[in-house]
Amino acid sequence: MMNLFTRKYYLNPETLRVERVRLSREQKIRFGVICTFGLIALAVLMRQGFERYYPTPRQIIYEKENTVLRSEYATLNTELHEVESQLLELRNRDDLFYRAILSLEPVPASIREAGTGGSETNTHLRNIREPGMVLNVSQRIEKISNQVKIQSNSLVNVYDEAISNQQFLACKPSINPISPADPTWLTSSYGYRKDPFTNRRTAHNGIDIAGRIGLDIHATGDGTVITAKMSRYGYGREVKVDHGFGFVSIYGHLEDIDVKVGQKVKRGEVVGTLGNSGRSTGPHLHYEVRKNSHTVNPMYFFFENLTPREYTVLATRANLPKGPYQPNAMSQK
Ligand SMILES: [Zn+2]
Repeated sequence: MMNLFTRKYYLNPETLRVERVRLSREQKIRFGVICTFGLIALAVLMRQGFERYYPTPRQIIYEKENTVLRSEYATLNTELHEVESQLLELRNRDDLFYRAILSLEPVPASIREAGTGGSETNTHLRNIREPGMVLNVSQRIEKISNQVKIQSNSLVNVYDEAISNQQFLACKPSINPISPADPTWLTSSYGYRKDPFTNRRTAHNGIDIAGRIGLDIHATGDGTVITAKMSRYGYGREVKVDHGFGFVSIYGHLEDIDVKVGQKVKRGEVVGTLGNSGRSTGPHLHYEVRKNSHTVNPMYFFFENLTPREYTVLATRANLPKGPYQPNAMSQK
């Protein structure tokens, strides 16, 4: 290249004179092009070098914005952490308390964790220079949003179950049909016994509670009267209450009937009075509970507020299975 910048001379053999070497037209063009590119390259290098040490006002603004954004993302990450732990607490309370109390299965982990992790929606974030922080926030928000949806569904489920459970508890026959204040005694328990009329061993489908004629007999749970009839045989004057959830209670040998078929009754409402009607050997109430058309021991339902010791004493008298008291032995399920 140096020969482009230095003048050259040569000896002309024809004139025998030292003459200056003239550049051809092509050489001149080449010279011009090289110079132009050289200058451009120099200008670019200088600008880069300059910007490195002296950023432009726009760059300064961007830098500031960047710093603010980074700090915002850091704050967001901390706040998300807070939300995540609150959600986790709610989820644990849901599984261990709400659902457990209502005998609902915990939400399976596979469903709880469904749809977590980075999805296709944030692949565009991979194009930015340092995606870690933004991606992290974005993924966590997505995960939280999914889990909130799942949690919300679970709580709707818990709410429905609680309402149903509340109705169930109100309807389930669960008190003594005769007030404990009235003097009574259990004359026949549930199960096989000698029939007082035939002396044969027969199944007794309820319990017999003897007492004074005219004692109030109370509905043992909310429900609808489905039978209120008089018969000279069997249970004599008899009231049947349908409690829903598969439960029916029967009150037999009544003296008076105070309700009509189709009437709604609340727990504790008087349905009639103790008597000696029908196939009876003395004034008593025959009380029977059926669950899904099968008779069950009504004593299961009386004693939900007893201590285990009180239960054991009564269980022995009432021919109930020994062992630990299981108030939920006759649950909704
Ligand atoms: Zn009986």
